[in-house]
Amino acid sequence: IATLYVVATPIGNVADISLRALHVLSLVDAVACEDTRNTAHLLTRFGLNKPLIAAHQHNEREVAETLIARLRAGERIALVSDAGTPAVSDPGARIVDAVRAAGLRVMPLPGPSAAVTALSASGLVNDQFLFVGFLPSKAKQREGVLQRLRAMTATMVFYEAPHRIVDCVAALAAAFEPARQVVFARELTKLFEEIHRCPLSEAAGWLAADAHREKGEYVLLLEGAPEAEQEQDVEAERVLSILLAELP
Ligand code: SAM
Repeated sequence: IATLYVVATPIGNVADISLRALHVLSLVDAVACEDTRNTAHLLTRFGLNKPLIAAHQHNEREVAETLIARLRAGERIALVSDAGTPAVSDPGARIVDAVRAAGLRVMPLPGPSAAVTALSASGLVNDQFLFVGFLPSKAKQREGVLQRLRAMTATMVFYEAPHRIVDCVAALAAAFEPARQVVFARELTKLFEEIHRCPLSEAAGWLAADAHREKGEYVLLLEGAPEAEQEQDVEAERVLSILLAELP
């Protein structure tokens, strides 16, 4: 049956490809991908060779039309991005939207996602998280987004381009309380993987302590604001203890 398979691929360690991903990649008629060289390389690692269709952020709409026509002709097609889960801070969402709108089947194959991988090893105890992804690169817009996040109680998950990590940490330090916990998840699943947690006040110092740390792929996690209710409880307890001390 004609299906668009949305296939997650490794974020560093190629052994993280799933058995199901390999099975589906071996049976599809074509693979739509963000970068044909990258995907050709990945497929070759597993002895696969498939026709590739370039599907990047600048041609998603046209590619969607092509894929819909091919799916209607009965083909099976996989959609992958360069790393991790397609359509999550990666191209693919418009293609998926168009294929679904055309009434065709879309089947996700779960697998690596930098955000969830970072959360799983962060030790931050909070059942809620907000995926922010990439912050705007312009300082003013970035500040605006961060100001709106100040009262957010969920853990916040940021992606950052390798050359902007220092700027990003400076922006977080300017916008949030210094005691908030931050987790650096660097080069996940790769040789130089590092996961470091510290208060926001120490984050810039940690980055500066080793020149290598200013490079590499990062997920940044930021502890959420204390629950408003908890704040009220703490305040109520404080007042109660004063009153109790005064009572005969
Ligand atoms: N679709 C991908 C996913 O599912 O996670 C994300 C792609 S996005 C274009 C790339 C960003 O993801 C990087 O700038 C970085 O923030 C994060 N990332 C990807 N791979 C990573 C890794 N191995 N270690 C840490 N962060 C990573």
